[in-house]
Amino acid sequence: MRIDMHVHSTASDGVLKPSEIIDWAVQLRLKGVAITDHDTVDGLEEAAQSAKAYKDFLFIPGIEFSTQFMDHEVHILGYWIDYKDPGIITLTEKIKDDRTQRGRRIIEKLKELGYNITFEEVLSVTKGGAVGRPHIGRLLVDKGYGRTIQETFETMLGKGKPAYIERFKLSPEEAISAIIKAKGVPVLAHPGLLNKRIDVIDIIQKGIKGIEVYHSKHEKSDSRRFLKIARNYDLLVTGGSDFHDSFASKRPTIGSEGVSVDELHEFLNK
Ligand code: AMP
Ligand code: ZN
Ligand code: FE
Ligand code: FE
Repeated sequence: MRIDMHVHSTASDGVLKPSEIIDWAVQLRLKGVAITDHDTVDGLEEAAQSAKAYKDFLFIPGIEFSTQFMDHEVHILGYWIDYKDPGIITLTEKIKDDRTQRGRRIIEKLKELGYNITFEEVLSVTKGGAVGRPHIGRLLVDKGYGRTIQETFETMLGKGKPAYIERFKLSPEEAISAIIKAKGVPVLAHPGLLNKRIDVIDIIQKGIKGIEVYHSKHEKSDSRRFLKIARNYDLLVTGGSDFHDSFASKRPTIGSEGVSVDELHEFLNK
């Protein structure tokens, strides 16, 4: 029985609502699911309520913080967080406000560059969720300004491109401390995607308690390497699909990666 520990909802840049993720996870015969939206806890109450309808189904409230270390992105997952904790609410609201302001600035840049796009259109896509570049990319594709979101990053939205704007970023230490204060477990997300100049061990030593060994973008060799690190440093082994919007035969690819219930129990009993 598998648990997918990394899924994004409409609370950040995923396409399914938190309740839809729970329903799908049950339908796909998963034992449980963690919702881990970027820098927000907004979807977690809805998911927790939906999960109550299913007996023996495990819902893990999570978050995925984007942090910056040595000028590179480092994503840190937090599991079993108390999403009503005032500290995590204040912090995530601050990050969300910054994302809104930054989204506005990206749209202003695009307008200056001659694109026909408004911030109101972005808000109609995000529907109250945090504003991310993927939303803007999707809108640009819909308007015919690119074939894929990837392409809009390469031409406009990516770092160093004409419509790029930095956003406020936490340090890994700040994210880890916010997760621990909210009684959560800090886990290093998809270490296989880290910039090669970053040493995984440096991040682990900042107080990380788990490592995402299995991930849809990891090679088998990545997983083997991180499993060894998990054993050496006594870390929780996690895994997940990082589902945003990819479907296969009309089914979301939730559960394409994950961990077994037994693996989690072993950790939880410690
Ligand atoms: P943001 O958090 O608004 O800076 O956007 C970052 C998100 O954009 C990442 O979490 C990815 O999901 C997505 N992303 C980053 N680079 C690319 C790319 N080259 N093509 C498509 N999506 C990307
Ligand atoms: Zn994302
Ligand atoms: Fe990530
Ligand atoms: Fe993610």
